[in-house]
Amino acid sequence: MLFGGIDIGSRAAKVVVMEDDQVSATAIIDTGPESAKTARKAMETALEGTGRSISDLGHTVATGYGRVLVPFANENISEISCHAKGINWHFPTAKTILDMGGQDCKAISVNGGGRVENFIMNDKCAGGTGRFLEMIADVLNTPLEEIGDLALASRGPILFNTVCAVFARTEAIKHLRKGVKKADIMAGLHEAIAVRSVNLLKRVSIRKDFAISGGIAKNAGMVRKLAEKVGLEPLLADDPQLVGALGAALFARERHRGARPGGMKIQYGYSDGTGEYFVTVDTALCTGCGECVEVCPADIFRLEPNDAGEDKAVVKAETRKKLAVLCPGADACLASNGANCHSVCEPGAVEHTW
Ligand code: SF4
Ligand code: SF4
Repeated sequence: MLFGGIDIGSRAAKVVVMEDDQVSATAIIDTGPESAKTARKAMETALEGTGRSISDLGHTVATGYGRVLVPFANENISEISCHAKGINWHFPTAKTILDMGGQDCKAISVNGGGRVENFIMNDKCAGGTGRFLEMIADVLNTPLEEIGDLALASRGPILFNTVCAVFARTEAIKHLRKGVKKADIMAGLHEAIAVRSVNLLKRVSIRKDFAISGGIAKNAGMVRKLAEKVGLEPLLADDPQLVGALGAALFARERHRGARPGGMKIQYGYSDGTGEYFVTVDTALCTGCGECVEVCPADIFRLEPNDAGEDKAVVKAETRKKLAVLCPGADACLASNGANCHSVCEPGAVEHTW
């Protein structure tokens, strides 16, 4: 039986296919303008030469920012839960994860079983993301895949006071014009990103073992800087960029086997050029009381039984791409409605990100 995991990121789409307990196929392709087409192409690329097709997948889970737009996925699960799951498969002792992706950076604290305990996300600013490094590589006219080694070659990193994408770019150009070596500029930027990442990690607490996932974990210079700043040698999967897709494939396998979904934070919504809007339901905390369904003036929730037959709040599929239009935000909703999904949800199972 084949199980598919697909992670549609802002820069790359990643696929992991598992056959029973083994990873049988993988693929990484660039994300195109249409998530649905990208998803199909990525899965077909992974299955190429295996004699199998998308219709052979027993269960598929999508994650990543484009996860709600994968037509052949049975469900979607937040990348935070999927990265925790994927890292746990590689490193069951990991308690702290830094996921460095194309457009955001997340610090995740997990228990020994891969269950998310806490997370914090930097997604408002490009600093410290793949997008930021691409931009700086462009300024320095250096291929992206070489910037980590370039940083490692530095003997005198330049001090950067900011990782704000706009200011850092200007500073980098200024240093370049003054004749500062590219390696020293790049090392300074890696240092600044590492400091910022450690500050993010401290907010969820740094506990041994520490793992890094995401495409930036392929950058040896960044991994070295993070090891220095965190004070722990990071654990790295063979391909850290595939960790989220692997976690999705593992969830797909569990779901097919009827495993009771443990605590999972399921995010509904979207992130695109116009901004982002997510409603997150923590299924471990949700008691299925239905209060959010009753109180929501935008009528976005309904109760749905999970694999164990327990009612859980879900966001209706037809509302997921227009949440920002339908929901005025928790504060505005409370002011006009006298209550909102947060105020009636005693266990605190609902979160908003916008
Ligand atoms: S109010 Fe909270 S606990 Fe009740 S169904 Fe909604 S999300 Fe679940
Ligand atoms: S904040 Fe209000 S409108 Fe928005 S999802 Fe919650 S209850 Fe619905």
